[in-house]
Amino acid sequence: MVEESRQGEAYAPFAGDPNEFHKKFYIESYGCQMNFSDSEIVASILNEEGFGATRNFEDADLVLLNTCSIREKAEQTVRNRLHAFRKVKENNPGMLIGVLGCMAERLKAKFLEEEKLVDIVVGPDAYRSLPGLITEAEGGQKSVNVLLSRDETYADISPVRLDSNGVTAFVSIMRGCNNMCTFCVVPFTRGRERSRDAESIVSECRDLFNRGFREVTLLGQNVDSYYFTSPFTDSREAETVNFAQLLERVAHISPLLRIRFSTSHPKDITDDVLYTMAKYHNICKYIHLPVQSGNTRILQLMNRTYTREWYLNKVKRIREIMPDCGLSTDVISGFCTETEEDHLDTLSVMEHSRFDMAYMFSYSERPGTLAARRYTDDIPEDVKKRRLEEIIKLQNGHSRDSYKNDVGKTFEVLIEGDSKRSDKDWYGRNTQNKVVVFPKKDAGLKKGDYVHVLINTATSATLIGEIIV
Ligand code: SAM
Ligand code: SF4
Repeated sequence: MVEESRQGEAYAPFAGDPNEFHKKFYIESYGCQMNFSDSEIVASILNEEGFGATRNFEDADLVLLNTCSIREKAEQTVRNRLHAFRKVKENNPGMLIGVLGCMAERLKAKFLEEEKLVDIVVGPDAYRSLPGLITEAEGGQKSVNVLLSRDETYADISPVRLDSNGVTAFVSIMRGCNNMCTFCVVPFTRGRERSRDAESIVSECRDLFNRGFREVTLLGQNVDSYYFTSPFTDSREAETVNFAQLLERVAHISPLLRIRFSTSHPKDITDDVLYTMAKYHNICKYIHLPVQSGNTRILQLMNRTYTREWYLNKVKRIREIMPDCGLSTDVISGFCTETEEDHLDTLSVMEHSRFDMAYMFSYSERPGTLAARRYTDDIPEDVKKRRLEEIIKLQNGHSRDSYKNDVGKTFEVLIEGDSKRSDKDWYGRNTQNKVVVFPKKDAGLKKGDYVHVLINTATSATLIGEIIV
C-alpha cells in the first residue's frame, strides 16, 4: 500500500531523546509502508554510529532518500528531489547524499553515473553496511552495496520510532517476495521471500505495548505466506509458525493491543487466518486484498495465479466469516493487451466486491520485469488514463456509500491524536480502518485510549461523530 499523504515524509527526532549525537542525518521515505519501516531500522543503525535525526536537510551531515521503483512516476519524484539537494550540497560540499531502497537496488552503481551528487547507494538488504559505506564516502570514495540476501530480516535491530504518534507502529515480519507478478519490480529489488523469527516479532510487539503503543501493523509483501522454521537449539525445540499462528501469538500480548496486517494475497489468505481474525477482538476486521484486474485472462498474464471467480469467492468467504470486515484493494488499469471488455470485468469485480477503499494505478512498465520482457506495453496512455478515471469514479461512489452506511452506528475507536483540522477534535480509526473524527469535549481522554463514538455524518473518507459514554 502506498500512503499518498506520507510520500516524502521526513522523520524528526523523537521528543526527549536522551542520547547525544555528534552528527546529524536526514531521511525521507517514499513508496510502501515497508520503506517507512526500513527507515526506522536505518535510523537505529545510524544512532549507534552517533548520528541523530534532523528534520531540516540543510543542517544534515548525511541526507538519505529511501526510494521506490514501483512506477516510473515514483522514480521521477526521487530524481526531482535529488535536484533540490544540489544547491545545499554546493554550499556544503562535506554533506553526503545516500540513496536507499528499491531504486538503489534497481539502478545500482548506474545511479552514481546518472546522478553525480549521490555518494552512497544501498539496497534494502545491505543497511547493516551503512556505517562502513559512510566512512568510505567521508574519505572521498563513492560507495555502493546492493547485495541481496536470502536470510537478512534485521530481526535483532530494534527500530527507532522516529516522529511517531506513540500509538501505532509498523513491524516488519518478512522481507522480499517470491510471487513474480509480471508487472512488478519488487521481487528484483527486494529479493527472495524470508520470514523473520516469530519470537523476535512477538517481543518487539510486546515491547511496543509496554512503551504505550496500542496498535501494530504486521508488514510483508505477502503476509499470508509467512512461515518461520526455528532452528533446533539446546534451549529451544525446532518449531514452525504460520501466519495464523503468528497473529494469535501477537493477539495474546494484550487485549488492548490492536493488530493489523498488510498485504494479503488472494491466493494465500486461508480460512485459518480468517477464523483467527474472527476469534480475537483485538485483531482488526480489515483486509487489504489487491485484485489488480477483474478479468481472468489478464490475471493470468499478470501471473496472479487466481481467477476472477477465485477472487470473488474469497470476498464471499471473508464476509461469511466476518460480516463486518472492512475491505480494500489495489487495481491496475491498462495492463498489456487489456480490451474494453476486460476493463468492464474489472469494474464489475469492484461492483460485486464493494471495496471501502482502493489504491488505483495505470500500468507503468518497469524495466527488467517479466511483463517488460514478454509483452508489449500496448495500451495507449490516454486509454489507460480514461479507464483509470472510470475505476476511480466507480470507487469514489462505493467509498461514499460505504461511509454513509456507517451513519447511526457506534464504533470502538483508538485515539491516535489531534485531528488535522482542529486540536479540539480527536482523530482515530475504527477496526475497519476508517478514520473517525470527533470533538474531545471534557471527557478526560488521551492518545492511546479506546472510546465509543456514534457516527453522525460522513464524507467519502472520514466518519464524524460524538463520544458515547
Ligand atoms: N505485495 C503487494 C501485493 O501483492 O498486492 C503490494 C505490492 S506493490 C508495492 C503495491 C501495488 O502497486 C500493487 O498491488 C499494484 O497494484 C501496484 N503496482 C505494482 N507494479 C505496478 C506497475 N508496474 N504499474 C502500476 N501499478 C503497479
Ligand atoms: Fe509484487 Fe506480486 Fe510480490 Fe506484490 S505479490 S510484491 S505485486 S510480485
